[in-house]
Amino acid sequence: MTSTTTSSMVEWLEKNGAKTYGNFINGEWVTSASGETISIYNASYKDQLIASFQDSTEEDVNNAVNAAHNAFKSWSKIPGPDRAFILFKFADLLEKNVDELSYMLSAEQGKVLAESKGEILRAAKEVRFCAGEASRVEGQTLPGERPNVWNSTVRKPIGVIAAIAPWNFPVVTPVRKIAPALAYGCTVVYKPASDTPWTSVRLMELFAEAGVPAGVVNLVVGSGSRVGNPLVKHPLVKGISFTGSTNMGIQINELAAKRLAKTQLELGGKNPAVVLSYDDVENVAKQITGAAFACSGQRCTAISRVVVLKEREQELIEALVSEIKKIKVGPSWEDGAAMGPLVNQEHLETVQEYIRIGQSEGAKLLYGGDILSGGEYEKGAYMVPAIFTDVTASMRIAKEEIFGPVLTVISVENKDEAFRVANDVDYGLASAIFTKDLSEAYKFADQIEAGMVHVNHGTASAAHLPFGGTKQSGFGAFSIGGSNADFFTELKAVYFQY
Ligand code: NAP
Ligand code: MG
Repeated sequence: MTSTTTSSMVEWLEKNGAKTYGNFINGEWVTSASGETISIYNASYKDQLIASFQDSTEEDVNNAVNAAHNAFKSWSKIPGPDRAFILFKFADLLEKNVDELSYMLSAEQGKVLAESKGEILRAAKEVRFCAGEASRVEGQTLPGERPNVWNSTVRKPIGVIAAIAPWNFPVVTPVRKIAPALAYGCTVVYKPASDTPWTSVRLMELFAEAGVPAGVVNLVVGSGSRVGNPLVKHPLVKGISFTGSTNMGIQINELAAKRLAKTQLELGGKNPAVVLSYDDVENVAKQITGAAFACSGQRCTAISRVVVLKEREQELIEALVSEIKKIKVGPSWEDGAAMGPLVNQEHLETVQEYIRIGQSEGAKLLYGGDILSGGEYEKGAYMVPAIFTDVTASMRIAKEEIFGPVLTVISVENKDEAFRVANDVDYGLASAIFTKDLSEAYKFADQIEAGMVHVNHGTASAAHLPFGGTKQSGFGAFSIGGSNADFFTELKAVYFQY
């Protein structure tokens, strides 16, 4: 491999790459009956084969669901604090293995090493929160209607969970589904995105090492149609926790509704940052660009629309461009690289199509947007982070999720218009406002149609607060926080008479 910087990641990949992995079913590594495998390549170095996986079929899904169903009988009866003990160990193992996991994550997904490490350490934090929740599965106790009667509600785990994740956060997204499932006493079959199954293998090994019994967590790798679809339709799957595109979420919800399975859907976003007032324009620009271009803009919570008052537009745009110019684009392992490639060539082409759409709609491509070529850029799907100005709220680039490093700036006459524009999209995931006026901040928090609101900082979430969206951005219980109990458990009302 040629690179301007060699690093331990490059060496580690040369030693540990190009293996073939099985599915993890009932505590064993098994091959698929299909006899076929799928291979993935380093996102920053597309000639390098990093690993091969089972191209699984419905039969593998059935085996995994049956294993999870059998394991549920005993796992659901283990006391919460004992399940927590295992999860705390798993969190420690994530941290202990952070270097190796981040090499795998950066290789399969393309994000720079610092981002991968951040993702893994964040996953460990979320696991610890979930582990704590296993000791706090609360019900209510209420007075009876008659003497000598008292009433309680208890929460019971629902059963086998199908966890289905996209490719942008291959560690934290599955962990965000599996850890609460286990904490509340459910068992899991996990299908990773076809582009990023490598870290999942290591996650399974670490769950086993932490003491998760056979069958409680299972991994089946394969396509959406051959693995995802049968998993969603399986009668023994009681809940589907899905993160991905809105269209797929709706299809999954239809199938689940037919047999009354529960869903937890985390879908797309078109997240606004409304800018009204500030002391330090540079700080605002830093917050916005950080949230817009992390993970090469391939984040459901990425800020993709800046809605700014006309009188501040010029100053803010200058500050944004100056921040964007500082973003060094390069392979995930390179020292100083802040933005890696997009996940693959096909996705780069989708994002490039939006660059063309923006231009044809009459927006001004003020900076960036070009494909990077030559040298190491030939080995991945790289582009210069882009900013469009002169954007109007009705343009497609202001309405549709681009899921890449493209920021749009819409200028407005006053704050009423700003709030109206902020809400004028089908999505409602994350949002931000920058203002020095407390009552404007409260008004925005009250009126914005979004699952998450950030005042005076970018759209970065915490490891213990409910995470989710409204409108076309989500459905079902929010993940991460205590709200998970609503998805992974169901109520039982109990009447005692003595
Ligand atoms: P996607 O195309 O919807 O795929 C997501 C997952 O669904 C993948 O594992 C995919 O498998 C699987 N899948 C495909 N067809 C299926 C089927 N018929 N039945 C069941 N599963 C099926 O999304 P993506 O392109 O990977 O990810 C980008 C999208 O995810 C964006 O819209 C983004 O906003 C959203 N996202 C949302 C959040 C959030 O928390 N709100 C977080 C991250 C991403 P294959 O990989 O095999 O196709
Ligand atoms: Mg897809």
